[in-house]
Amino acid sequence: MRYSALAILKQALRGHTGWPRQWRSPEPKSSYDVVIVGAGGHGLGTAYYLAREHGITNVAVIDKGWLGGGNTGRNTTIIRSNYLYDESSRLYDHALDLWEGLSQELNYNVMYSKRGVMMLAHSVHDVQSFQRHIHANRLNGVDNQWLSPREARAFCPPLSISPDARYPVLGAALQKRAGTARHDAVAWGYARAAARLGVDIIQNCPVTAIRRDRSGAVAGVETARGFIRAGKVAVSAAGHTSVIMETAGVRLPLESFPLQALVSEPVKPVFPCVVMSNTVHAYISQSDKGELVIGSGTDQYTSYSQRGGLPLIEHTIAAICEIFPIFTRMRMLRKWGGIVDVTPDRSAIIGKTPVAGLYVNCGWGTGGFKATPGAAHTLAWTVAKNEPHPINAPFTLERFITGRLIDEAAAAAVAH
Ligand SMILES: Cc1cc2nc3c(=O)[nH]c(=O)nc-3n(C[C@H](O)[C@H](O)[C@H](O)COP(=O)(O)OP(=O)(O)OC[C@H]3O[C@@H](n4cnc5c(N)ncnc54)[C@H](O)[C@@H]3O)c2cc1C
Repeated sequence: MRYSALAILKQALRGHTGWPRQWRSPEPKSSYDVVIVGAGGHGLGTAYYLAREHGITNVAVIDKGWLGGGNTGRNTTIIRSNYLYDESSRLYDHALDLWEGLSQELNYNVMYSKRGVMMLAHSVHDVQSFQRHIHANRLNGVDNQWLSPREARAFCPPLSISPDARYPVLGAALQKRAGTARHDAVAWGYARAAARLGVDIIQNCPVTAIRRDRSGAVAGVETARGFIRAGKVAVSAAGHTSVIMETAGVRLPLESFPLQALVSEPVKPVFPCVVMSNTVHAYISQSDKGELVIGSGTDQYTSYSQRGGLPLIEHTIAAICEIFPIFTRMRMLRKWGGIVDVTPDRSAIIGKTPVAGLYVNCGWGTGGFKATPGAAHTLAWTVAKNEPHPINAPFTLERFITGRLIDEAAAAAVAH
């Protein structure tokens, strides 16, 4: 069924009893052309673009839990493309282009909201670094502008620009085209659209190993529901990617950390944009439900616990209260964590691996939600054609051997 105002009206007249299931829950087949491990936005998006753009529909997306239950459904949904390096801004801007038409493309409201993302500068180093970003972005045709403290407060009235603050605001970089989207709707939208094109989505089915044939090429995946043969396997399992890839004999330069976020009680609309502070590792926006959505930097230890420690949350809240004194009496409702996969240069790895027929899309760390359509779109190309897409070509695994890093770690402390 196509979603439309007319469909809502018709269903309303029937007491909303006629909505069909959004996707099927099929039994896994014994063999597929492509198996994708991980039903987050990246995995589901890859399946969708494989079917839609390359006509490859004999595809299964397999998840150990429920779809969108990983980082896709846990993140703070900041979308922007004002990264420093040419390679990054091309990739994230490609994603931003796709975000703009995604609701129409999927016939699913992903609630992409171009409310602007403002990054605060608190020190001379921040000012220089953000102005460098702005110049680099402009050369790449990516919008990003410098705001004085007064202009920043005009854009975001709850912001304190008091010079006595512990983290005084010396200015800000603003990308107006940036914003947020509804995270789980992205997973649901891709799932529904991919399933409609024939993709099988198999939930609650952990992949325990990737099996290779005698020639060394991929043969399929071992799962909790038996072996599934596959001509090609693509792994998009975020924080667990290195564990799965190791079963195929591929070691990845990844570390997995908990990354936490929290929300407040809901209040009336008070916060018009997204504000990030890399220096204090805190960022904030307001959801359409009214909750303040607050995030921090990664915990300082590697773990698969999906929880994280309280000291980091305490530090983040202290910073938010200092920058936005208006929120000091807000009550927090809940906090949670996801497991993010971090590379040494804080840029992703997308593409082929040393194993024939095995592809990987990982290393998104704290900032892969924004890349979802772009990464999925270019990975689908790579899987279909067995060659890099011009945009994902620099994001190879080999760069950690050749030294051609895309060092967003040095460019910015935080990559949400
Ligand atoms: C708290 C938090 C805040 C964040 N904030 C932002 C932000 O503001 N902006 C931004 O751009 N990014 C942000 N991120 C990062 C972003 O969420 C991720 O980079 C992105 O969602 C990764 O998507 P994915 O589809 O690759 O992974 P996921 O959505 O994590 O999907 C991977 C899937 O793989 C499955 N899986 C794992 N192991 C197996 C197995 N053995 N077998 C089968 N399935 C398996 C998991 O169950 C999971 O569903 C944040 C992350 C967190 C945790």
